[in-house]
Amino acid sequence: MRYAALTDVGRRRSSNEDSHLADGRVFAVADGMGGHLAGEVASGIAIDALRDITGARDLERLVIERVQRANSLVFERAQADSDRHGMGTTLTACVVEDNHLIIAHVGDSRLYRLRDGRLKQLTKDHSLVAQMIERGHIKPEEAAEHPQRNVITRALGIEENLKIDIKSKEMAPGDRYLLATDGLTSVVSDDEIASVMASEDALEGASEKLISLANARGGPDNITVVVFEPEGWGRTRPKKRWVMKTITGLLAVAWLAYGGWIAWQYVTSGFYLGERNGRVAIFRGVPGDFAGFTLHTLVKETDIETGKLPAPYQRRLNDGLPVGDLNSAERTIVDYRSLIKETR
Ligand code: MN
Repeated sequence: MRYAALTDVGRRRSSNEDSHLADGRVFAVADGMGGHLAGEVASGIAIDALRDITGARDLERLVIERVQRANSLVFERAQADSDRHGMGTTLTACVVEDNHLIIAHVGDSRLYRLRDGRLKQLTKDHSLVAQMIERGHIKPEEAAEHPQRNVITRALGIEENLKIDIKSKEMAPGDRYLLATDGLTSVVSDDEIASVMASEDALEGASEKLISLANARGGPDNITVVVFEPEGWGRTRPKKRWVMKTITGLLAVAWLAYGGWIAWQYVTSGFYLGERNGRVAIFRGVPGDFAGFTLHTLVKETDIETGKLPAPYQRRLNDGLPVGDLNSAERTIVDYRSLIKETR
């Protein structure tokens, strides 16, 4: 995975209460809330819960457990410390498993995917305005100006039991992903985000551009962006094809060698009677050929005309009649002679 992450306090806040993580395996943003630096503590706890997630048999379950544990931790601290009462945080996290992303989401931070030039929001905002849009009370374009636009309906650390949105998405080569807190999305439109994501080759450049766009719009809130994309698929796929071709080639060579060995056994050990120039002949080897090689040599042509033999004998000679060795070949020739004499 290639990735870049950037956070900025913005133009109006005195401290940054966002936290984030980008380590190549886990990508996450968290937007903390609550006075006296409580937001910073809450978002920090949520992010810390996702560190060192190593290969579990059921990774999705492990992610849920970690997020639930973070929820309990924030909730308990908020209860214990009156200064931190009401502290909570959003959390939007992606854990990479093979070519899949396990996505865990609570709150109004967002995950976007740019695929084939089109930007799609993969998470659903847990906010009052999102609910109002869904119910048709307001139009999407009214959300940005709505007085309650910052009210979220779900957050980590607020209640004892947390409902987490969890899903798995397959990644495709060329995909690009963006995690962002509302410091970006409340002032920069999806279209603008799409154009930056599609036009900036370097992920660092894209991150910087998104942050400066938000600050150019007044930077009313802390801004955090994490950009990542799968890499190496363009290289590994042809490599796998190359490996498969080589294996297929080696198998073909082995098969030919094996077939050749079998054929060689016939050639060196067997004799058969066949037809040549209308007469019975003794051959060493086997009738027909293998991979373009003739597998028999003429030992002796007799003066027995095959046309004088009964039809079933002629057919067997056409196919090649195996005989164990040269002696039995000669004995069969003698039999043929007496057969022809008798039928006369
Ligand atoms: Mn925020």
